[in-house]
Formats: sequence, structure tokens, C-alpha cells
Amino acid sequence: MTFNPDADVSDNKVQRRGGGRTAAIAGGGVVGLGAVVVLLISAFTGVDLSGLLGGGTGTQAQPQATTSSEGYVKNCKTGADANKDVDCRVASTKLALNQYWTKHVKGYVEPGQVSVDVATATPCGTASNDVGPFYCPSDQTVYIDPTFFQVLKQQFGAEAGDLAQVYVVAHEYGHHIQNITGTMSKYPNNGTGPTSNGVRTELQADCYAGAFIADLTDQKDKNGVAYFKKPTEAQITDALNAAAAVGDDHIQQQSAGYTNPESWTHGSSAQREKWFASGYKYGLGKCDTFAVATP
Ligand SMILES: [Zn+2]
Repeated sequence: MTFNPDADVSDNKVQRRGGGRTAAIAGGGVVGLGAVVVLLISAFTGVDLSGLLGGGTGTQAQPQATTSSEGYVKNCKTGADANKDVDCRVASTKLALNQYWTKHVKGYVEPGQVSVDVATATPCGTASNDVGPFYCPSDQTVYIDPTFFQVLKQQFGAEAGDLAQVYVVAHEYGHHIQNITGTMSKYPNNGTGPTSNGVRTELQADCYAGAFIADLTDQKDKNGVAYFKKPTEAQITDALNAAAAVGDDHIQQQSAGYTNPESWTHGSSAQREKWFASGYKYGLGKCDTFAVATP
């Protein structure tokens, strides 16, 4: 339980897009097979998750059509609802994120947020659980299938509790900040490896997520009730574990039995934990992953 049960999260409007595995496949013909294969690399984990999901027929991947026609998550009015339901939790987390970043970035504009129902087309390729959560710079939108957290839990060995889920959403918002503040264009993708711009970009998003989580209780609803309760030590440890679980070395060790640092796109477990902790302990001022020789 992460949210304050009394918090008002009724302004949780997100787009729900997709519409089940069959519809997604039928509608997905615009993307060639080659493109699909390339795009099945998660922006969050840097790994192809398509083989891990058993075709989406497992009980863990049941999509829940939970949005109203106006786009609000159904039965998602209070923090208590967000504590119960993952769709509500992901949609509500954005309220606190937008408030936080409005305070810290002049001229902040909210990103779009799409709750992916199995699969949907985006300007950055198909969004689905196979790909994992990602931020698409060209339409400034965060795409998350809330069932991804089951994948995190089952395939990456992270407990992926409520706060770890907040970390994942906050990481994607971190990329939005990098986009609107010019960091992405200043440090374009220059390949892979532990000191590449790509890895530094990912680690900075982890750092931003850590800084946000450190200030979690400062973000309040219109009645002055904090959206979140103060995280416990156990929850912080769980979020750190989630950061470590999606480290490139951990994923490579798990899938191939060895690690190849030169191919890293997101950073090692130690790097991801380190930068999450840097943001958490010292704030946004200690998130310049581009200023250090070895991030
Ligand atoms: Zn990322």
C-alpha cells in the first residue's frame, strides 16, 4: 500500500488503447515483420520480452477493460482504489508526477499517458507487454501496459511491489523531462556500452525517479491530502531491487549466462541502483550522468 487511502485521484484521465490480442494482431499489419522484431526490444529493460510471455494467453496477462468512455479509469476515485488496482495506480501516479515536475521544470508540459490494452500502434512502434513500458519522444507520450509488472515479477525476479511500479512510471516521465529540456537532442544516441549516451540517458531517468520518490509525500490533491504515504524502508529496497533486476548484466546473465558490457543499453544493475539512490538521497542536483567519466 503506497497511496494515502483518502487522497482524491479522480482526475486520473489516461488514454486506454489497444483492445485485446486478436484486435492488435489484425490491426498491426501496417508494421512489417522485420520492424516488429527490431521493436520488440523494451525501452525499459533493453531486452526482447516476446519469448517470455507465452503469447499473452497466460492468466497474468489478462487485459482489463477498465476505462470509462471519457477515458477515466473505472472505480478509481481515491487512494484506496489506487492501492487495490494496478490500472488505477499507474493512472494516478501521473497526478503526483505532473505536480512534481511542474515545480521543477519551468514551462513543464504534461506528457500523454496511454494505458496499453495488450498492444497498440505508436509513432515509435507497437506498444505491448513484449516491448515493456516506454516513452515516445515524437508524440511525447508514455506507454505502459499495467500487466508489465507481472512480467517484472515473474521474469526478472523483482518483487515489483507498489513502489517499484511507481519507480517504473517515474522513469518514463524522466525521459519526457530529458526530451522537453533538450537533454535528448544534446546527447544523441551514440551506440551502446556502460559509458554510452544511451546508458547515461537511462541512468538519469532512474535518478529522476529516485528524486521524485524521495519527495513523494510533498505532492498533494486539491484538498491538501498527500497522494502517497511515506515509503517504508522495505518499499525503497524493493524499488532498488526492481532497478537492479532490469540491469543489463542481470538480464544477460539470466538469459545468456554471461554479460557483454559493450552491448549494454540501460546500464548494469549496480549502475541503475547507484543512480536511483543518488536521486533519492541527494535530489535532482545529483542526476547529471553526463558529467562524470564513468556513470
Ligand atoms: Zn528508459
